[in-house]
Amino acid sequence: MARKLKILLASSEVHPYAKTGGLADISGSLPKALKAMGHDVRVIMPKYKTVVECPLGFHPIALDFEVPIAGIREKAFLFEGKLDEDLPVYFVGNDAYYHRDHLYGSNGGDYPDNARRFIFFSRSILEFCKAIGFQPDIIHCNDWQTGLVPAYLKTVYADDKWFKNTRTVFSIHNLGYQGNFPVSELNTAGLPFSIYHPEGVEFYSHFSFLKAGLVFADILATVSPNYSREIQTKDFGFGMEGVLQKRSKDLFGILNGVDYQEWSPAKDPWIKAHFDPKHLKGKLACKKNLADLFSLKINEKTPVLSMVTRLSGQKGIDLVIGAMDHILKEGAAFVLLGSGEAAYEAYFQKMRQRFPKKLTAYIGFDEPLAHKILAGSDLLLMPSQYEPCGLTQMYALKYGTVPLVHAVGGLHDTVREFNLKTLKGTGFKFKGYEVNPLLKSLQKAFSLYTKKTPWRHLVLNGMQSDNSWDVSARKYHNLYLRILKR
Ligand code: ADP
Repeated sequence: MARKLKILLASSEVHPYAKTGGLADISGSLPKALKAMGHDVRVIMPKYKTVVECPLGFHPIALDFEVPIAGIREKAFLFEGKLDEDLPVYFVGNDAYYHRDHLYGSNGGDYPDNARRFIFFSRSILEFCKAIGFQPDIIHCNDWQTGLVPAYLKTVYADDKWFKNTRTVFSIHNLGYQGNFPVSELNTAGLPFSIYHPEGVEFYSHFSFLKAGLVFADILATVSPNYSREIQTKDFGFGMEGVLQKRSKDLFGILNGVDYQEWSPAKDPWIKAHFDPKHLKGKLACKKNLADLFSLKINEKTPVLSMVTRLSGQKGIDLVIGAMDHILKEGAAFVLLGSGEAAYEAYFQKMRQRFPKKLTAYIGFDEPLAHKILAGSDLLLMPSQYEPCGLTQMYALKYGTVPLVHAVGGLHDTVREFNLKTLKGTGFKFKGYEVNPLLKSLQKAFSLYTKKTPWRHLVLNGMQSDNSWDVSARKYHNLYLRILKR
């Protein structure tokens, strides 16, 4: 290895300490891949209630520091755990901010003090570096919750020698979440009003934490090549397309990787039986187990469709609702694990009561159950309206569960349409965010499911595809080197 880099990955969620979605998976797995390349990698996140409950454990570090916020100084307490051998994860403690039942809000709403909570976190990241004596080459920030870090470095800390050689990467995991707050939060953050203008952090008369990251980071990354192009257009840019077009040369799409230590049917501790491409019997046992768990009535010919998802509009739930009659008429069984918007939760609960033998919906967040569902189903539905990368379809591929997806973002990059003549391809894709194209794709899937040999090819193609971090971690490494040379 040419140069050992000091990398600090800052994230508002890191698996297994705290998770609401794919960001946590990436924040837990990318550092391991970078560490394996020989770098000095550290991770920092808030000390939520879930951190205290996590069996991996952590300990306090006899070091606290003060964080300037809203014109006063508040104490941050520091804790340390391990993501892996020699891979520390630091927790910023301030129970008033973080020791709550949820990460970002409850009952579908955000916590009213989210601006202040993540101002405190962002500022803590920089104060932490100084307190612990760590001079990072790279601070890799993720999503709006850490968007202020690059802004601080270019303003308040611009003359701070400690960070003279520090460069920032800002990764966009989902442009739909922007952290837009009242202008008055600039005071809370202690950032100068001179950055509040359309070329700076102003976004439709709000102070946007996401935009702060997009404008001030030295380089921008997002989680798939296709999404990096999409977000520069009006349809997918959520109003940020102009900023992103301007930074087009600094914006890179790098596909997320899968941590196959966690997601591998050959050794997954949560599933009924293990399997791999040469021994597929276990998959049938997993399917039967899944059906038994929820008292679903299935036989050999029943395709089991599943979704493991946040129940938000982004995830294409409206299309699924539109296609549900058809799915059930075809004799398929349907399993959903998810939580989110109340109307969607209510719909699935109602459907579960109406069709208890054919449809089940577990409303909640349950990691072991996610593994069981991915192992036990035949098809995974991901008809997302937009999808920056999507991890669930990549997990499904490994588990021999065929993804059926809307051809957007990372879904388009990671799933190849199956071709019956060549027997190549890993799943089904439809174009156009409407019920009809989804139905057509479902029809193709149901029809293929009845043909044993081609279906087996399809399943095996997916299981043998490789979405590990190897390639992507190298791309991040090259990106880091690129900005350090500037
Ligand atoms: P997003 O980050 O947009 O939610 P991804 O597909 O990238 O979507 O990642 C979702 C991650 O969250 C996957 O690891 C998936 O298994 C997990 N997940 C989503 N909903 C649930 C749930 N209700 N219970 C358990 N895991 C879930």
